Amino acid sequence: MSLTPMMRQYREIKSKLHDTLLMFRLGDFYELFFEDAVIASQALDITLTGRDAGEAGRVPMCGVPHHALEGYLERLIEQGFRVAICDQVEDPKTAKGLVRREIVRIVTPGTAVTEQADARYLAALAFEGDEVGLALVDVGAGDVWFGAGSAEDMRDHVARFRPREILLASGCDCPPWLEESVNRHGAVVTRVPGPSGDAFLVHYGVSSPEALGVRAGSPALAACNMAFQYLRDTQMAPLTHLAPPRPLSEPGRMWLSERTVEHLELVPAGSGRDRRMSLYDVIRETVTAAGSRLLRTWLLRPLVDRAAIEERLDAVAALADDLLLRTEIRESLKGMHDLSRLLAKCSIGRATPRDLLALAHAIEKGQTAVALLPKGGPSLFEHLVGGLPDFRPFADHIRGELVDDPPASAAEGGIFRDGVDPEIDRLRSLQSDGRRWLREFEAHERERTGIKSLKIGYNKVFGYYIEVSKANLSLVPEDYERKQTLAAGERFTHPELKAREADMLTAAERVVELERARFESLVDRVREQAGELQRFAEVVSTIDVLAGLAELAVKRGYVRPKLTEEVGIEIREGRHPVVEAAIGSAFVPNDLVLTQDTPIILLTGPNMGGKSTYMRQAALIAILAQMGSYVPARSARIGIVDRVFTRIGASDDLSRGQSTFMVEMTELAEILRAASGRSLVLLDEIGRGTSTYDGLSIAEAVLEDLAERRDKPLTLFATHYHELISFSERFSCVRNQSMAVEETEQGIRFLHTVVMRPSDRSYGIQVARLAGLPDRVIRRAMELLAAREAEPEVAVAKANTNDMRRQETPVREHEPVALDLFAGPYRDLVDWLARYDVMRMTPLEAMQVLHEATEKARDLVGWARSR
Ligand code: ATP
Repeated sequence: MSLTPMMRQYREIKSKLHDTLLMFRLGDFYELFFEDAVIASQALDITLTGRDAGEAGRVPMCGVPHHALEGYLERLIEQGFRVAICDQVEDPKTAKGLVRREIVRIVTPGTAVTEQADARYLAALAFEGDEVGLALVDVGAGDVWFGAGSAEDMRDHVARFRPREILLASGCDCPPWLEESVNRHGAVVTRVPGPSGDAFLVHYGVSSPEALGVRAGSPALAACNMAFQYLRDTQMAPLTHLAPPRPLSEPGRMWLSERTVEHLELVPAGSGRDRRMSLYDVIRETVTAAGSRLLRTWLLRPLVDRAAIEERLDAVAALADDLLLRTEIRESLKGMHDLSRLLAKCSIGRATPRDLLALAHAIEKGQTAVALLPKGGPSLFEHLVGGLPDFRPFADHIRGELVDDPPASAAEGGIFRDGVDPEIDRLRSLQSDGRRWLREFEAHERERTGIKSLKIGYNKVFGYYIEVSKANLSLVPEDYERKQTLAAGERFTHPELKAREADMLTAAERVVELERARFESLVDRVREQAGELQRFAEVVSTIDVLAGLAELAVKRGYVRPKLTEEVGIEIREGRHPVVEAAIGSAFVPNDLVLTQDTPIILLTGPNMGGKSTYMRQAALIAILAQMGSYVPARSARIGIVDRVFTRIGASDDLSRGQSTFMVEMTELAEILRAASGRSLVLLDEIGRGTSTYDGLSIAEAVLEDLAERRDKPLTLFATHYHELISFSERFSCVRNQSMAVEETEQGIRFLHTVVMRPSDRSYGIQVARLAGLPDRVIRRAMELLAAREAEPEVAVAKANTNDMRRQETPVREHEPVALDLFAGPYRDLVDWLARYDVMRMTPLEAMQVLHEATEKARDLVGWARSR
């Protein structure tokens, strides 16, 4: 079937693309055809029309105006589409036949540079045996990360960076952990040819990966090569703004697993109404988008090197103590455009004249902030500013060249000031002379013809014309040539007008061309310095973060933590930053002391008593301190923590296809395997997801394991198993604490105060009453509880706790309930059962024994009830 030449050209270009929409430049529009048009018209909610394609008849078409392209692109990639942009690559006026068109870039969910401030990562994964290589690139911010390690470690990184697009070699299976992460975070997986070539090394202009800190032959290198090849294929631009690659597991960073980040609600999760306030939301006092991104990185990658932490804290202190300096710095950065984004746009060839002016303003603002840093101040200031070129002359140069309000596109001219380029000036004056001449010509013709309403006009198709209304047509002189007939009159031209028109149009076109070329060379100058400008951008973001942390400290009354090399945490009157932000002065501060000798706290207390808050508060304060922030407390001494582990809440993880209990045990296994004597471990309600005896036994065994280690992690262990409080008797390293409640006539009242003794009861029914359970249910629960407490083993346990309550010291002699299975009449049943060997029995004999066993068990239950 023969198509029109243009549709053939479209088809040929489209045939090279897979799973990618093609936007094809036609005049002032980007058009989509065939199935692409159907998809895009639905995704963008735009009208589906049609176009004659030759013998194929009318084919579906839809399009968007070229000046609005970016907005539409953003909507498409948000929906997970990849879009190839096909432009005219020669001037339609000079082209012979069909204008040549080529794909100039491919926009994908992981590589798009949008106006949104959030990070947008592209990830590439490569596998080698058990080792996984990972590369992460944020084109918009210019960040590049790489790493290799176990699947678990890489899973955590993927979860933390939440890439929008993940590259996998075609033919390589997507491992279940990755699939699950993809589903959870809504990334798209793009298949690419395997990791061959050395696009990564070529990009950075080095011959060996070691020069970039990447081991030769490591899957990290393979992943980097894949990512950079993909960038080359899609961006079709040099990307000079990308910063040097950084290792994901830099030494000197605290390790926070994906689950810890989630459990502690460090950064926002969920969206819309589900979005809960996170620590990041509370501490974010940065004034620039890039500063906010950096703050997030600091929060998720706290330091473990004391000197480095102190260096940050010194800088925060200097800014916290100097209101004027802090205010000036923050004011100077307010309204600053996102420098990294603008550099990215220059680098991928998408900067507009407005972007370039914004870049100059941003440099100016950044330089002002840099200049405000006091000389001889904290060492971090010196490090930041040291060796940084002064970009002000460059910014001044840009501002000196561009008009005050430059156009949104370089295609129309009007970008440069008068006096910048003599040739541009000359052509512009030709144009304005021309306009003057036109006015004079119009007046002259009115006079000559006697047609008062005669008008000179212009349109793109016919050029300049003389318009005469119907009533005056009889007055039209001989030397007018008819061009066009309208309902209300006619349009003419004239030899003099024609001659002038040619001059004027040439001048207009030439000016646009010259301005465009001059603009491109200005953008090239940005590209040449993109690396250094990127470093400057990072310095400015760091200043923003430091000033933001100082503002936070002052605004919320945080104090500077003392960091030590010794093991232990001592917090006086600590507060949970997020809960405090929500309830203000109603928050009850609490102390926390974990030492090398008493590193384990067993925390009991009623539901809603504040256990989780207290435990998380400890971790949040340690993380804040180690990221270089002041902390919500009256004082805090933090022995540097290498990792924070959490097992908190019985959150169901259905999206991972794991039961609550399975999740709990998986996390516990990881903690027991990896926690060191410098780790902070939060364990909340271990064993709650299974039967009481199983759960209690697991909780007990875990506590024993931790208490018997030589290097005991600092542990906060919250539990409902009151049986465990006797541990402080067995192990001096364990201390009992509880959340105090007050019993009043109306019920219980939570004091949210930590006391140095175990809780005497769980107050479950009282909490249920507070929650509004019907009275009849509460009464019945009380009856049942009373009956249970009357049972022998419960009575023993209760006597012990009562005893404890009186003495306010932990119980001395307390047998865990589960052991009662081997006492009294229970023992007889156990002994009787132990006589049998099921492997030597026939099925019938086994059934017989089972029957007898259930009979005996029933008797036993009846006996226990009767007592
Ligand atoms: P559960 O065992 O049911 O999980 P919990 O003992 O862990 O409960 P939290 O979830 O920590 O209790 O806190 C319960 C409520 O008490 C929360 O709404 C919290 O805002 C409030 N709260 C916790 N600690 C304090 C405090 N120190 N001051 C004021 N309010 C607090």
